[in-house]
Formats: sequence, C-alpha cells, structure tokens
Amino acid sequence: MDKSIETIALHGGYKPGNGEPRQVPIYQSTTWKYATSEDMGDLFDLKASGYFYTRLQNPTNDFVANKLCEMEGGAAAMLTSSGQAANFFAIFNICEAGDHFITSSSIYGGTYNLFGVTMKKMGIDCTFVDQDLPLEELQKYIKPNTKCVFGETITNPTCCVLDIEKFAALAHNNGIPLIMDNTFATPVNCRPIEFGCDIVTHSTTKYIDGHGSSVGGAIIDSGNFDWMASAEKFPGLTKPDESYHGLTYATAFGKGAYITKATAQLMRDFGCIQSPQNAYYIQLGLESLAVRMPQVCKNAQKIAEFLESDDRIAWIKYPGLKGDKYYDLGQKYCPKGTCGVMCFGIKGGREQSIKFMDSLELVTIATHVADCKTMLLHPASHTHRQLSDEQLKEAGIPADLIRFSVGLENPDDIIEDIKKALEKI
Ligand SMILES: *Cc1c(COP(=O)(O)O)cnc(C)c1O
Repeated sequence: MDKSIETIALHGGYKPGNGEPRQVPIYQSTTWKYATSEDMGDLFDLKASGYFYTRLQNPTNDFVANKLCEMEGGAAAMLTSSGQAANFFAIFNICEAGDHFITSSSIYGGTYNLFGVTMKKMGIDCTFVDQDLPLEELQKYIKPNTKCVFGETITNPTCCVLDIEKFAALAHNNGIPLIMDNTFATPVNCRPIEFGCDIVTHSTTKYIDGHGSSVGGAIIDSGNFDWMASAEKFPGLTKPDESYHGLTYATAFGKGAYITKATAQLMRDFGCIQSPQNAYYIQLGLESLAVRMPQVCKNAQKIAEFLESDDRIAWIKYPGLKGDKYYDLGQKYCPKGTCGVMCFGIKGGREQSIKFMDSLELVTIATHVADCKTMLLHPASHTHRQLSDEQLKEAGIPADLIRFSVGLENPDDIIEDIKKALEKI
C-alpha cells in the first residue's frame, strides 16, 4: 500500500478483470453453486476459500471490506449489519464469560449500554475508565482476566480525542490488544493502526455512508497482534476449535486469524451480516469520503469559531478550536482535521437549548450524526430523556449539551440559520 487515501478510496478492494463491471457488482444471491460435493466440503472445512451462503460471506461485502481494510492499513476486514454488531463482535471474538476488559467511559451511548448492561449479562465484565488518566493510573484497572482495551478515536457525543499511543501502551504492556472505534475520525483523518491500535471498528452508518441511507458496521484487523505470544489468554484463537474440526485459527490463518474466527464462528452463529445492497451504498460513500471529510472539517471549523465568539453560547467543545482541551491530541492524531461533530451549551440551560433547536429551519433535529446534512440532537430531551439533570451530570452529559453535526452545506447558510434561532431565544 503506497497509494494515497484518495486513490485507495476509489480503486481499493475491487480489481475488475478484462470485460468485468467497472463498479462493484451487487451479488444479490444467498447461495453459490458447486460442481461436486467435495468442492463444497472443502469450503466448510475452511480448506479452500470461496462462497457458499451469504450469512457468512458475500463477494460484494468482501470487496467493500477489503477497500476499507486498505484505507485503514489493515490485514483483514469484515462488514457487519451495524456498528453495534461490529463492536459486539470485536470484543466477543476474544472475550467469553468470566473475562474482563477495559473501556473508556466516554463512548457512544449504545456501546456504553452494550458493554455495561448486555455483555455483563453474558458474564463479560468491563471497567469504565476516565481516558485522560495517566498510564500508571490506568494500569491499576488491569486484572489477570483482562482481555482487551477499548476506546473511540473521537468520542460521541463529547468530542474528546483519545491518546491512542497511551492506550496502546496500556494494552501491549499487558499482552492484550487495543480495539478502537474510528467512526468519527474515519481513516481519512486518522488511521489508529499507525499509532499501535490492533483492531479498528466502524459504524459505517455515519461518515462512511455519509448520506443517511444504510445502517452498517465494519471490523478491520491490523494483523499485528501476536496471539500466540499471549496464547493462554486467547484460547479461542490459539487452541483447536472443536466447532471447526479442531482447527487453530492463529496458526492456520496468520494475519487473517481474528477475522476468520469472527466470520466462521460469530457470523455463522449470530448472523449479523450486512446486506450486499447496503455494502454497495457504503462503497459509493467510500469513493467520495476523502473529499467529503476535509470539507466537513473546514465547515465545522468555521461554525465552531462562530459559536465560540457568540456570547449567547455558554461553552463549546470542538477539538479544532485552539483553546480546546483536546486541541493538541487532535493535532497529533488527526492533523488533517478531526470531524464535523461538536457540542455546546446555550446560556440559560436546558430550556433555552430546546427553544434554540425548535427555532432552526435548515438544520434538522435527528438522532443521526456524521452525515452530509447538518443535524443536531439534544441528549437531555432525546437519547437520554429518562435521566434527571443530576443523572445527566454523572453521565458526563450536561442538561444543556447540544450535539451539532456539521455537513456539506455552505457554512454561511448554517451560520445564518443559527443566528436567526439565537435571536428567537
Ligand atoms: C452510531 C455509532 C455506533 C453504533 O453504530 P450503529 O451503526 O448505529 O449500530 C457505534 N459507535 C459510534 C462512535 C457511533 O457513532
């Protein structure tokens, strides 16, 4: 991989042969035909690679996963039905009942619930940590049964930039991998693998799709983590799999071990496959991702600077602003720009925030984020509405927090809309 990200976004993953379609074809087929029973048997034994049933693998999905894999600088990748499925698979592929992992507490609410409630019910325990703690403090949360460390490159919705090298050191000092959700930064703005991350996940629903058309997710493995060096911690990869004829993933598949295991076991059993049609939409999104992200960041910067200078705004968090707590980490890990998402509060608190939102005309109220259209959400009124102001504070989400996701409109039009709404409150 020596090509630049703009070029990989267009040409990565799918290499048509002579007379084949230029655009990725949609393999809208559940199944594949084989000449002999033995041909088919070899596929089930993982002796030969090929397609037999779309619940496990589909060529359209693989073309798109391979493109994203090249964009992230990984070794193997798979698409999942959603970002939720991607994060679940990423952890569950190496953790089982009785295991533990460490996660930043500043993560997407859906992931927080998945880890803190649902996976706990499955017997997998996690500790939520303040990601800004120094390495020595973080080390105290490691237990003998800790199997991985998790964080988001840029957190949703609080816009904190994670110190990837610190988290990678925490993981590797303890012989375990770092898994990062890179949804907000995208591989255009940050490639976590270059900073020591082992496994990257995405909600492709956000910038990668970019047009609000399809829910989806992805997992990309760097292939760098040495499972055999921590063999006793990861028996699922380093000991024979009885559900697969005694095959040992780490020795049989090398850099493809983690993704092969996730496909062969988790896709087989849970079936959270992305539809090939959605994979095709994601493919279209990826083709323009490298030109959309710089424009999104440019627009967001202009809007953030406007908000920062307006005295009706109580506070604003955007890592592109010089005074922001995460400006330096943003410069280090995302020198081309962070993302289009920011959060801020309006003077007067919850009530004024609601009035402000209801007065906007161009900017849409939506639970969606990281899209080509500008959208906003007020967690206290929407995603977190069951919480009291006190509980919101504990969750790190002030009652006045507005999550504002800047898109590709002319930023002057967005600023006009914001100005008009501010005048009404
Ligand atoms: C939206 C989101 C998810 C969940 O993805 P879905 O595609 O909605 O399942 C996970 N992580 C982050 C950072 C997100 O923004």
